[in-house]
Amino acid sequence: MSGKMFRCKNCGSIDSFGLVFNPNYKGKGEFTQTVNQHEEIVFNIDGYEFIPDLGFMNGHAVCKYCGEIRQWEYYFPRFRNKAEA
Ligand SMILES: [Zn+2]
Repeated sequence: MSGKMFRCKNCGSIDSFGLVFNPNYKGKGEFTQTVNQHEEIVFNIDGYEFIPDLGFMNGHAVCKYCGEIRQWEYYFPRFRNKAEA
């Protein structure tokens, strides 16, 4: 469980996304997702590692459940309260 996740504002699903690559992108588009020692999500795309921010998510990630894009917000499981559950 990571400390910071992404939630779809449209359907509420958490960390269920696929990446959409620009048609001009020349790489293979091989994508893996891990969590580092600071409990941050780390993406690896074709060997390039980085921590995705909301700007990246809303530019490149599509929700696997509802198919929406540009609908992401940060989600912090540790701070979840009863009203939100
Ligand atoms: Zn969704």
